[in-house]
Amino acid sequence: MRVLIVHAHPETASFNASMMRKAVSTLAEVGHEVLVSDLYAMEFDPVSDRRNFRTVADAERLDQQREEAYASANGGYVVELQAEMDKVVWCNALILQFPLWWLSMPAILKGWFDRVFALGRSYGGGRWFDRGVHAGKLALCSVTVGGPPELYSDHGFYAPLEQILFPVHRGILGFTGFTVVEPFIVYGPQRMSRAERLARLGDYRRRLLALESLPRVENPRTSDYEGFVRKPSGAGDRLG
Ligand SMILES: Cc1cc2nc3c(=O)[nH]c(=O)nc-3n(C[C@H](O)[C@H](O)[C@H](O)COP(=O)(O)OP(=O)(O)OC[C@H]3O[C@@H](n4cnc5c(N)ncnc54)[C@H](O)[C@@H]3O)c2cc1C
Repeated sequence: MRVLIVHAHPETASFNASMMRKAVSTLAEVGHEVLVSDLYAMEFDPVSDRRNFRTVADAERLDQQREEAYASANGGYVVELQAEMDKVVWCNALILQFPLWWLSMPAILKGWFDRVFALGRSYGGGRWFDRGVHAGKLALCSVTVGGPPELYSDHGFYAPLEQILFPVHRGILGFTGFTVVEPFIVYGPQRMSRAERLARLGDYRRRLLALESLPRVENPRTSDYEGFVRKPSGAGDRLG
């Protein structure tokens, strides 16, 4: 496989960085090609605006999606965005490595999606979910969380991580066609003993070795929907 790891942590000695390096070594060891976009090291600018483009569709008023469609059709992205877009095309598996910040991804990673997953490159023209631009590619979120598992249980202050990651799993990855596998979560690495942290890195290695056969996160099949709404169950049978 060709694997792109998008890594979003500012500290090279962090647990996230160790997880990223574990992924690189594990995947390379079994013959996969690996590229890393280390967003802080690259000083990736997460702000999406007119600076994304070398082309201009409308100089008077900025309509971001219109400019994206125009740039997509006219080779109009600045070099650093085009390079990231090319990596996404190149890969057949995408791994996101990030700490949970404010029940979400760090802004630098959100900005990577805002800018790189542009209209005409990652979606558009009725291409979404199983008909999406990135259909056939796998995606995995590898996430560290500050709080303990109970905080994210059904009865905790927060919701289970599957719900918290829904915007990423469905709104970004599923929407653009990725087959999303179940996330790998490490709870509270900052409170673990060194031995526990090494054990979690070992768990992650095993998870990565099974990447292609991991259980999937459910995302919609377009054939189950009529317009934007799910068909009543059994409708397929009745409609023949
Ligand atoms: C802005 C912000 C918002 C946040 N919001 C939330 C939130 O909403 N919910 C929540 O639960 N948490 C939240 N947090 C906490 C955050 O999720 C955790 O601090 C983070 O996930 C921990 O991961 P880390 O990589 O930063 O850990 P680190 O602190 O970098 O690492 C933990 C320990 O592992 C050690 N280590 C690194 N590599 C190795 C290795 N190879 N072997 C052994 N030990 C190693 C490090 O030295 C360190 O002692 C937030 C934090 C911030 C900064």
